[in-house]
Amino acid sequence: MLDYASEQALPPGTLIRVPLGRRDVPGVVWDPDLGSAPTSVELRPVTAVLDALPPLGADWRALIDFAAAYYQRSVGELALGVLPPELRKIDQLRLARRVARLQKLAPVVSPGDNAAVEAAAQRPVLSDEQKTALAALASAQGVAKPVLLHGVTGSGKTEVYLHAAEAALAQGRQALVLVPEINLTPQLEARFAARFPGRVLVSLHSGLTPAQRLRHWLLAHLGVADLVLGTRLAVFTPLPRLGLIVVDEEHDPSFKQQEGARYSARDLAVWRAHHQKLPVLLGSATPSLETWQRVQEGRYQRLPLAQRIGGGAMPRVRLVDMGALHKVEGVERVLAPTLLAALQERIERGEQSLLLLNRRGYAPVLHCTACGWKSGCAHCSAWRVFHKSDRTLRCHHCGLSERVPRACPDCGNLDIAPMGRGTEKLQEQLGELLPGARIGRIDADSTRGVGTLQQQLQAVHDGEVDVLVGTQMVAKGHDFRRMTLVAAVNPDTALFSSDFRAPERLFALLMQAAGRAGRDAEQAARSEMWVQTWHPRHPVYAALRAHDYPAFAAAQLEERRAAGLPPFAALALLRADARTASVAADFLAEASVLAQAWGGVTVYPAVPPHVAKVADVERMQMLVESPTRGALQRMLAEWLPQLQDLRTRHKGLLRWAVDVDPLVI
Ligand code: ADP
Ligand code: ZN
Ligand code: ZN
Repeated sequence: MLDYASEQALPPGTLIRVPLGRRDVPGVVWDPDLGSAPTSVELRPVTAVLDALPPLGADWRALIDFAAAYYQRSVGELALGVLPPELRKIDQLRLARRVARLQKLAPVVSPGDNAAVEAAAQRPVLSDEQKTALAALASAQGVAKPVLLHGVTGSGKTEVYLHAAEAALAQGRQALVLVPEINLTPQLEARFAARFPGRVLVSLHSGLTPAQRLRHWLLAHLGVADLVLGTRLAVFTPLPRLGLIVVDEEHDPSFKQQEGARYSARDLAVWRAHHQKLPVLLGSATPSLETWQRVQEGRYQRLPLAQRIGGGAMPRVRLVDMGALHKVEGVERVLAPTLLAALQERIERGEQSLLLLNRRGYAPVLHCTACGWKSGCAHCSAWRVFHKSDRTLRCHHCGLSERVPRACPDCGNLDIAPMGRGTEKLQEQLGELLPGARIGRIDADSTRGVGTLQQQLQAVHDGEVDVLVGTQMVAKGHDFRRMTLVAAVNPDTALFSSDFRAPERLFALLMQAAGRAGRDAEQAARSEMWVQTWHPRHPVYAALRAHDYPAFAAAQLEERRAAGLPPFAALALLRADARTASVAADFLAEASVLAQAWGGVTVYPAVPPHVAKVADVERMQMLVESPTRGALQRMLAEWLPQLQDLRTRHKGLLRWAVDVDPLVI
């Protein structure tokens, strides 16, 4: 935070432009208390005041202050980082014109109008569970304990969000709805728009053009928009009339920002609601263990939606023991014969199936059968993936892409072969195994162009695909009516990850994937979720088979408690990047010595992350653990400034950063 002089009194939250060195940079008036500025220093004047924009409110500034302190960033960096980039360029005159134009956009239909009455009349009659949830939410107003809406896909959670939003709107308030992925915004937007005709609804996510983003943000900030739907960055939207926050799929890792200020939008939503004494609704079939533990402690209220609307059952889970299969067959098989037969049956009945494989490309690595050469990346500690469609080897970490060599670069052998399997290869193999079937594929490669994902999803909805191969991208949210079989082809890797959250993520993904099948009650009875595994007796799969999230959560929480891991401890991850691993390690080692000054905080030895080298940068990380978030916060606030100084003594260090409450370790 810096001090500047201004001739006119500027209310806090005013957007300004100030000189910094030779540049003119945007700023926000934070604390206009002149008494704090040392009088001996000549303050430079503010260059421009953009007061055509109403000041950013006290609640918004409090959120920024909290987030900056909690995630150990500067207030200025965070505040300016979450404002629409266009706001940095615009001048007072153009801003004034835009604001005036948008303010005229007040709702075109009032709640008593025909369209609104008609839309309201088409609301379904709520189930008893939905009514209970809404009643609890209404009575929570003011005391505001966060509410966990716990229900599987199709249990009517979105319907509860719609009703809760309706209640907020009826009181003249705004509602903020956060979803994990951009891809999920269009269908949700359509549903909200249909329910609230004439209301101003805007979306905020990284897929908007800069101009759209500014426009939507202004509509929210001016109080014109009633509903704001967005991804994690939308948690920072200034909303003068905010009355409700919804976080859908609250367990989803996408709510955590993975660079810069590494904030959790879910956690900030809860803080914001608490600070403003507003209801906050967290929805999930598989809540994060942090949220679940808070429910156990009585700090959050759990409201279950135990039934699928229309009585559809969750699909039957079938585990295929790949070990037993291979012993008998003695050959490598893509799909168990039983699964293949089940797919064939679906095709004959005109139903659809989804095969999940979390690995895009044709094969994760190419290798030479003569000398053992493998397609490593020269700049990363990772293999380059073989993409058959354009015959390239691509590094998924640094982006390096090259044509597949004709012969082995080491020995000249012409026989270089793919090892392992990605979605491209699975699609190809299915084409051979199921002649005549229409095999689709949706992953980050197949959906590169603008609008291609929507087209491909539409093709599935229109029944143009019999078997869909996809990564976790398709496991979320999409409502495929004809789908009666979902299979995880090779999910085991997550069971043995060094990341203690891997089982939690796997369970959530498989439950969510299972939710894709049998959403139509008529089909639910014959819907199935298949899991091909070498570890059929693993507790994660046992819980999945029983659709028993509480049992899964209880077992995981017991392990976490015994190991002193979140939510029973607070973690921060200190990362250091350098050209050589030893420079990064030395920096962390000295940081660790400094950290010894704080009792009760455990600092673990520095280790390389899963992929240590990316684009010729060596990375190291060090975990800091404390029994409570408060103790960790106090320690970080004093320790990190010391690291600023430490850095200057480690010349080769490229950067360092701290990740508070890291999600991926
Ligand atoms: P979720 O968000 O948990 O997946 P939805 O709210 O989308 O569940 O509900 C699933 C389907 O059931 C939707 O088509 C929705 O319109 C419908 N639905 C929700 N609640 C009811 C209800 N009380 N009566 C009839 N249909 C409902
Ligand atoms: Zn070779
Ligand atoms: Zn690379």
